[in-house]
Amino acid sequence: MQYHVNGRLVPAEEATVSVRDRGFMYGDAGFETLRAYGGTIFEWEAHVNRLRRTCEALSIDHGIGDDELQARIHETLDANDVRDAYVKCSITRGVQPGKLTPAPADNPTVVIIVSELPRGGKRGTSVWDGSATAEIVETRRVPDQALPAHAKTHNYLNGVLARLETEADEALMLDSDGNLTEGATSNLFFVREGVLHTPSLSGPVLPGITRKVVLELAEEVGIPTRTGCYRPDDLRRADEAFLTNTTWEVRPVGSLGGEEFAVGSVTRELAAAFDALVESRHY
Ligand code: PMP
Repeated sequence: MQYHVNGRLVPAEEATVSVRDRGFMYGDAGFETLRAYGGTIFEWEAHVNRLRRTCEALSIDHGIGDDELQARIHETLDANDVRDAYVKCSITRGVQPGKLTPAPADNPTVVIIVSELPRGGKRGTSVWDGSATAEIVETRRVPDQALPAHAKTHNYLNGVLARLETEADEALMLDSDGNLTEGATSNLFFVREGVLHTPSLSGPVLPGITRKVVLELAEEVGIPTRTGCYRPDDLRRADEAFLTNTTWEVRPVGSLGGEEFAVGSVTRELAAAFDALVESRHY
């Protein structure tokens, strides 16, 4: 494989960054996980906008234009001859003198890695086999006042600690007041009496791009949607539940803390609508 490091394609084994890079030392970096379907990036605008907001939250003024970033991603896909892929694009504040206080990001570190995934869309294959197991863990989501949830930074320790607590596929976290937020790397949806619910972005929830697309699709196919503040019991009493993220797309929850969940018709309808959207846009 070849990866893109600071403007150059290099063999994966030679793709390294400095031990003094602030992304390594402090998690002082932003990133995006993107999905290429048939050679083009799904929801590019949404990803580049979220990356911009992350970099603004961290005051990383890296000076790399959106088109330049997109060109680097396509160069990486082409160099590896892959069209269906997971793409990770990271921008760190770079190497700076050994002080916590950041200096301007005059020399950011920019890394793009890709790895091949199965085809998506209507004739595609999911990256997961079977419904997800999920568990509500003790680790609480970091409050927005401590670290803004909309910033997708290299510091994923909150999610790492949550995942360490469980053998389940996804660790669901509550906020400091005990309300549902999201999984370590996914947004949470549940269905009750035909209404689709997901925790609102006013809580410490990453504005997932798959979440946004799924809410739009639900509206298009006439499924009523609500965003709000929910308790664990709202989820336990739900008729169906699913998780969303860029690689899982729409993944049903098959059990929560050992209690079985049926894969319901709303989840199936939205997964099919998602596949149809990908098919029409990318293949
Ligand atoms: N929440 C968290 C904490 C995540 O890490 C992710 C993955 N980026 C998501 C939600 C889902 O976001 P997206 O649909 O943009 O992949």
